[in-house]
Amino acid sequence: MRNTPRYTIAIDGYSACGKSTLARAMARRLGYRYVDTGAMYRMVTLQFLRDGVDIEDDGAVAGAVESLEVDFTPGTNRALLCGEDVEEEIRGLAVSNFVSPVAALPRVRAAMRTLQRQWGADGGVVMDGRDIGTVIFPNADLKIFVTADLETRVDRRLAELTSAGRSATREAVKQNLLERDHIDSTRDDSPLRQAEDAVELDNSELSLEAFIDEGMRLVAELEEK
Ligand code: C5P
Repeated sequence: MRNTPRYTIAIDGYSACGKSTLARAMARRLGYRYVDTGAMYRMVTLQFLRDGVDIEDDGAVAGAVESLEVDFTPGTNRALLCGEDVEEEIRGLAVSNFVSPVAALPRVRAAMRTLQRQWGADGGVVMDGRDIGTVIFPNADLKIFVTADLETRVDRRLAELTSAGRSATREAVKQNLLERDHIDSTRDDSPLRQAEDAVELDNSELSLEAFIDEGMRLVAELEEK
């Protein structure tokens, strides 16, 4: 956008509620950088699974975190783990089933927090996750907390998995979402919660277009302030 400040926009919410869809679309419209922090935790988890890292072993966790490199392909934003494109692999249930315990580890969070703050330091960023508005950028210009009812979230995640050629039962997807929500919101380090100054956006009944328009309307409101 011309002559407008480069805002920092934080989008948080429960699993599969549409955060990333909104964040990606807003970043594209604004010409901002998009950072999918869930993908970062998914990459760490994939590396842990590949190397058989015992998450109870602090030394092993520290070594693994130190040696891995998490990044995104410029422009297309595909997940890059130590230079390897793992965008498809991190979306499967194997990673989804293990990601929340890994993301609860303070060593893992500290490493990701540093990168996230670095990538958002100059503003002009839309970042989505669980703790962006509460911990990563508590002074963000705009905080959105996305919600959607559970059945809608299950439907959407199932459709995503199916269209990516992956098979999963409705029950397995639902259990995974419930379990992740529980672990993510009850952990000690940066638990998922709505920031007091976040705007809640329920997209259960909204079309994709209306959902994105609503997000953009909130940005336009910032410009009027
Ligand atoms: O957003 P997504 O569902 O891909 O996130 C995967 C997992 O990564 C979450 O269930 C959560 O455990 C973790 N996560 C987190 N903090 C963030 C983003 C994601 O703990 N900021």
